[in-house]
Amino acid sequence: MTKQLNNKKARAICSFCGRSSGQDQTDAFIEGPNNVFICPECVDLCHNIIQQNRKRISSPVLSLKEMPKPKEIKQYLDQYVIGQEHAKKYLSVAVHNHYKRLLHTNSNNSDVEIDKSNVLLIGPTGTGKTLLARTLARFLDVPFAICDATTVTEAGYVGEDVENFLLRLLQSADGDLEVAQRGIVYVDEIDKIGKTNQNVSITRDVSGEGVQQALLKMLEGTIANVPPQGGRKHPEQSYIPFDTTQVLFICDGTFVGLENIIKKRLGKKMIGFGSELSEKTDEKTEYSDTISQVIAEDIIEFGMIPEMVGRLPVITVLSALDEKALIDILTKPKNALIRQYQKFFEMEDAELEFTNDGLHALAQKALEHDTGARALRSITEELMVDLMYRLPEEPKPAKYIITRDIVEGKAELFTAKQNAKKESA
Ligand code: ADP
Repeated sequence: MTKQLNNKKARAICSFCGRSSGQDQTDAFIEGPNNVFICPECVDLCHNIIQQNRKRISSPVLSLKEMPKPKEIKQYLDQYVIGQEHAKKYLSVAVHNHYKRLLHTNSNNSDVEIDKSNVLLIGPTGTGKTLLARTLARFLDVPFAICDATTVTEAGYVGEDVENFLLRLLQSADGDLEVAQRGIVYVDEIDKIGKTNQNVSITRDVSGEGVQQALLKMLEGTIANVPPQGGRKHPEQSYIPFDTTQVLFICDGTFVGLENIIKKRLGKKMIGFGSELSEKTDEKTEYSDTISQVIAEDIIEFGMIPEMVGRLPVITVLSALDEKALIDILTKPKNALIRQYQKFFEMEDAELEFTNDGLHALAQKALEHDTGARALRSITEELMVDLMYRLPEEPKPAKYIITRDIVEGKAELFTAKQNAKKESA
């Protein structure tokens, strides 16, 4: 019976594209009644068509009742992002307004024109800017693309065109242009295209003002020509016309040195060497206080062109993270690192506990790196790797307690029982 089927398969011709299955039978042609076959490629194609159609039907412009309210958006962000109340609030309102704008535009009611509420996030490295965007992406039902501003250069130089950001959005909408045109583009490191910044070429402004001009058009709303294969545009290529009028842009940057521009404007004294406030924590508080007073003019002075800043009407800041915030990041979010490790241990019938002092030691170690919460992962991984390596073979059930001494490398990590034995010996 199988043989018969195989023989049949060997001669199968796809009833959709006409391709033959060949003699080697590596292709699984699916057989229907009356000698009808379909090849794997056509199955994939049909699958995509059906998916896109479902998506189109299931993601119409939301009504006022259906669209996520700012409070709901913020509550979701709260589950994953510690602190940064200002940024979470502003972002939630901006996204909600984005939905409202879509609704308004769709209603063909032209009495008032609602501008886009593109957002600019400013804050030090590792404080949750990208995390905010990623978390938002998970919550929203619009396509979302995270793009790196440093990869684009002015036309004529090696690098990508800004239109590739839109291509990424189109890809995240599974190629559905209509859906992509209502999506959100997150542009990382926008400060790196400031015109006063040091560029790769000293003589020419490779990724400075020219890129800002190109990006500006997209922020304002334009019909951009997107190269379907990405990379650089060239004349012989055919383009996808992408309307960016309804795309929301969220841009972020660390804007190193911006605090000095703000201080100068405010007439504050700058902190130099030997200052009383040279303690790291004080510096951080001082930085957060200063940066929270940012206005559009400061960003223009930093090197962004005024038109661009004008198209980013919502400016919000993220503060530097202190020790307490780092401990919260380790323990509180739904996907907190320590909770994840505890889950791993639980699966092996073992218990993992961090003492309060142990947590402080971890946070203090991370603070030394000056990369915000980024260092937490590598420090914790380094601490846990040996134990994770031998955990499956260790006697169970067991309890491990991580203390300050263990974090600081002054004691080894054993089970609580083994530690107790050592102490009594
Ligand atoms: P950046 O501000 O440089 O974009 P990220 O958002 O990429 O920083 O943060 C790096 C990592 O640090 C995140 O993946 C997350 O694990 C952690 N993190 C940073 N800030 C926060 C925060 N406010 N709340 C929770 N986790 C955070």
